[in-house]
Amino acid sequence: HIPVICIDGPTASGKGTLASEVAKRLGFHLLDSGALYRATALAAQDAGLDLDDETALARLAAHLPLAFRDHRVYLAGRDITDPLRLESTGGMASRVSQHPAVRAALHGLQQSFRRLPGLVADGRDMGTVIFPDAGLKVFLTASAEQRAQRRHKQLISKGISASIDDLLADLKARDHRDMSRAHAPLKPAEDAQLLDNSDLSIEASVQLVLDWWQG
Ligand code: C5P
Repeated sequence: HIPVICIDGPTASGKGTLASEVAKRLGFHLLDSGALYRATALAAQDAGLDLDDETALARLAAHLPLAFRDHRVYLAGRDITDPLRLESTGGMASRVSQHPAVRAALHGLQQSFRRLPGLVADGRDMGTVIFPDAGLKVFLTASAEQRAQRRHKQLISKGISASIDDLLADLKARDHRDMSRAHAPLKPAEDAQLLDNSDLSIEASVQLVLDWWQG
């Protein structure tokens, strides 16, 4: 039985940072499930697909020529690490992820990341749909304002200018879409630990999760 820790929550709640830090401390593998939806969106764009064409998108998602090497991500041999992180890619991923058939097409790929000695899985439905038997489920939240501030700081540090108001509006739109979709909406699993990190340092959040894990 291979251990799994799920870290779910809304956009820019700090899931990625928390998940990768916990994985590092435990020597576990990491699944950034959002990257799979983002890669599907980029592949769809390359193929000129309509983001409402569920059948074509699902076919694409089922055969994504995706490779992970040395912290880089490749789509059909092309390095997509940077375009993957663009806000516009996140927005497209959010649309692509609305389709049940796309979610189903990515199910097996996500589960294939579960390898010894263990996995930390970051996403929206890790605890509710993909790994319902996970040993620890964390639902991470932070206020929308706090998340917009963090995203803003992140972009500025990369030399990208952005308005906090635009980021906040985009974040709220994406939250709404993720929470109100019919299939696998964003919500905490019944057995999830709720963690509001609005006023916590990254290190404090990491320690809390490790404490829960080590019980
Ligand atoms: O987490 P990230 O911002 O990379 O996710 C991009 C989009 O992919 C999210 O807005 C969400 O709509 C979708 N997603 C999802 N289920 C996941 C991970 C991401 O629907 N497990």
